[in-house]
Order: sequence, then structure tokens, then C-alpha cells
Amino acid sequence: MPHTLSGNLPRRTFFRGLAALTLLSSAARALPSAPDVVVVGAGIAGLQAAHTLQAAGHSVALVEAAGRIGGRAYTESDTFGVPFDHGCSWINAGHVNPFTAIARRDGFTLLDHSSANSSYFVDDAAADAEQRRAYDAAWGAVEQALTAAGQAGLDVPASTVMPQGNPDIGVAQSWTGPMDWGVDFDDLSTQDWWTSEGGDPSFLVKEGLGAVVAHHFRDIPVALNTPVTAIDWSGQGVSVTTPQGTINARACIVTVSTGVLNAGGIRFTPELPAETGQAIADLPMGLLAKITLLFDGTRLGFAPNAWLDYRVPREMATPACFFLTWPFGFNYMVGFVGGRFGWELSAAGEAAAIDFALGELERMVGSDARKHFVKGHLTPWASNPHTLGAYAAARPGRYGAREVLARPLAEKLWFAGEATGMPYVALCNGAYQAGEAAARALSASAALR
Ligand SMILES: Cc1cc2nc3c(=O)[nH]c(=O)nc-3n(C[C@H](O)[C@H](O)[C@H](O)COP(=O)(O)OP(=O)(O)OC[C@H]3O[C@@H](n4cnc5c(N)ncnc54)[C@H](O)[C@@H]3O)c2cc1C
Repeated sequence: MPHTLSGNLPRRTFFRGLAALTLLSSAARALPSAPDVVVVGAGIAGLQAAHTLQAAGHSVALVEAAGRIGGRAYTESDTFGVPFDHGCSWINAGHVNPFTAIARRDGFTLLDHSSANSSYFVDDAAADAEQRRAYDAAWGAVEQALTAAGQAGLDVPASTVMPQGNPDIGVAQSWTGPMDWGVDFDDLSTQDWWTSEGGDPSFLVKEGLGAVVAHHFRDIPVALNTPVTAIDWSGQGVSVTTPQGTINARACIVTVSTGVLNAGGIRFTPELPAETGQAIADLPMGLLAKITLLFDGTRLGFAPNAWLDYRVPREMATPACFFLTWPFGFNYMVGFVGGRFGWELSAAGEAAAIDFALGELERMVGSDARKHFVKGHLTPWASNPHTLGAYAAARPGRYGAREVLARPLAEKLWFAGEATGMPYVALCNGAYQAGEAAARALSASAALR
């Protein structure tokens, strides 16, 4: 909620002036006056890019629009009194993910979540053995169909390769599409799915994955509250415009989401080449939103760290909210909604989202769900102006856009982030590797020699 100062103009002006001074001084502390490189965005990609460049001896101005670092990696404990990740929470592909070693080294508590238990409901009852077999078979069928399409080199909507007949295809589809990729199966590229990697071993972090990221990068100098509005790459080097002034540098790495780029949040002069612009358009943001429900300590019959889902129709944009129950024994469940339904529910607002999630739970466990409910929260990734979605998903037929976006322009303008983090696209480790790769390439390029 915005603070108002009861129309007390002198006071208000004073506070504004004070705020501006604070911004300027923190920005001035963080910004070298004539850096080699400007890095735009202090999410994982930008932080790792800045770290890599600094380690190679280059001066860097890392500028961030928000008032904190981490971007989509964000843990806070204010809402529920215990850590809660708004964005990323699983360290996927844990055997190669740099955050596994980072988290362990820094003393964070990891839980191997690779073979979590799950509860599956059909209508208002826990599935019987036969329904459970059909559920497992549906997962196999979806994976097989996507794999066959991928191996055949098809880049088509995932919905077009799904087998008919299995009544549980809907649930496997909803997890894989809206709740993993942030898009429905008619918007999921089979080749984007096939060429990506992730999966097990996967670890949850008790103190939050966002906290791991914030702690790891705590010493990287950043100018917070410094949104970049324009980048001029027409002359020698680049000129990067922020409300705090223009920064001239030899090169720039842009790590903002494709949501921000597609919304025109940064003006480029000259305009980006057509193929880069097309690649950004071909990588629209999917949406995954979390509806987290805090209870009074009751467990509603569910185990900690378990999945909870239920049979849904296979039609696209099916209203569905699946859950992670009581992570680390905390008194909350995390509900997941995504794809077109996720966007709709986010637009309807937090109260509607919480009511929907509670209603789904109530259908399974009865009135205890509302009786023991304390409070809820909807992550606002759909409307967060610094992100505008959860992560990029290539349009069917256009999975090559990721590689196009990763190509540097005139050896002085790089795009890097989860969208270019192949093969770990949409993931933290993809963002980390993309930031590092862009920084290394830039460090070796003519721009910095
Ligand atoms: C709900 C959700 C769940 C997720 N779950 C997982 C998971 O379990 N495991 C996993 O590995 N990944 C997960 N992810 C994905 C992961 O969080 C992202 O892939 C990763 O954090 C992206 O990092 P990035 O640096 O590419 O982008 P960001 O984190 O978006 O960083 C970009 C930064 O740029 C800033 N910015 C934007 N505009 C401007 C501007 N004009 N000027 C200056 N700065 C600007 C932003 O504020 C932001 O800090 C999840 C994401 C979401 C949203």
C-alpha cells in the first residue's frame, strides 16, 4: 500500500528529496563513473555476469530497477513468519546446478525432493489403486509422446501430439504445461521441451532459494532503484539512460526478462535488428503463480513435502491448482496455477485466487479446509512491471529464437538470462550460465580488448 503524508506538501517534498538523495548516494557508491560494461538487471544472470566481468578485471556498473537484488529469486519471511519463495524454489538438475554447491557451502538446509510422495484425488476421494495406475500411465504417455515428437525433430504445439483415450492425460498435461512451462499445451513447443534439461535430483531449500542467491551475491556492488529506460548503441560503445543519469560504457549486457523487452520497457537506438526483435516476440512469458495458503497447524491428512493433485479435463486452460503440502513442516501449502488460467486468475486478484485454491482443497477434504485456514498470498508475477510473467516459453515452431537472442550485436550488446540459458531454460542455473557465458564472450571480444 502506498504511504500518504496527509497532503502535507512541504513534508512530502522533503521526504521525496531525501529519497532521491539516498538513491543518488547509493547509486554513486555502486557505479564506477566510466565503467567498461553496464549490466542491466541484478537477477541471477546479471549478478553472475557482473561477478565474472569483475573477476576478469573489468569495471562494471550493475543497475537494477527494483529495490533489491535477486529478481525472480526472492525469499521473504514477513508474510508467513517463515521463509517463503515467491519465485524459484527448487534447485533442479542438482548434480550440475552451481547452486547445490553454493547452498551447501554457505550452510543452507537442502532437502532432496526428487522422489516426493504424492496424493492424487478423483473428484472428492483419494484415487484407488486402479485410478493411480491410470495416473502413472498418463505421465508415461505424455512423456513418451513429447519425446517421440522431439526425436522426430517436430516443433509443433504439444497438444497436437497427445495420445487419446487416457482419462488422466489432463493432470500430467497441467503439471507439464501451465505449472512447469507456464503455458498450456497448445502454446508449448515440442522442440523447446525436448531440447531443455532440468529435473532430478532436485532440492528444496529450507531457508529459501532466493536467500541462497541473495547471500551468495551479497558483495556485488549494485545501483538499486535504477531502471534503465533507453540504450543507445549507435556510436562508439553504449549510452545507457536511467533516471539517475546516463552511463557511457564500452558494452552492455541486458538481463531483463523477455516480458520487459516485449513490453518496450527499454528503448533501443538504433532499433534492434529484425531477427533479434522477432526472437524476443517468439519468446513470450509464460506464467506460473503461487497461491500459498497458511493454516493453523492442522495437516488435513497430508504429509509434509508431498504433492497433491487431482483429475482435471484435458481441455486447454483448465482451471486447476495443484499443491506442495507443508514444505519443511511449515504450516502452509503452496498452490500452483499457470498458463492462460493463471493469467486470468492473477487478473481477477489475490482474493479470487485464494478463494479458488481453497475451493479446490475443500472439494477434496471438506469444510476443514476453510475452517482451519488462516491467510493466503498470491505471487504477483503477472503484473510485476520488472518481470511481467514467470519465464519465457518459445512459441511452437520458434524454439530457435533462444539461440538468436543470445547472439551479440556489434560485439557490444548482449542479451542473457533464463530465456537464453540453454539447455536449462527457465531455470536458475540456466540464468546463471547465460550470464556467465555472455560475460566471458564479452570479456574476450573486441569491445574489451
Ligand atoms: C513462480 C516462479 C517459480 C520458479 N521456480 C523455479 C524453480 O523452482 N527452479 C528454478 O531453477 N527456477 C525457477 N523459476 C525461474 C527462475 O526464478 C528464473 O529463471 C531466474 O531467477 C531468472 O533469472 P534472470 O536473471 O534471467 O532474470 P530476473 O531474475 O528477472 O532478473 C532480471 C532483473 O532485471 C531487473 N529489471 C527489469 N527491468 C529493468 C530495467 N528496465 N532496468 C534495470 N533492471 C531491470 C529485474 O527487476 C530483475 O531483478 C521460477 C520462476 C518463477 C516466477
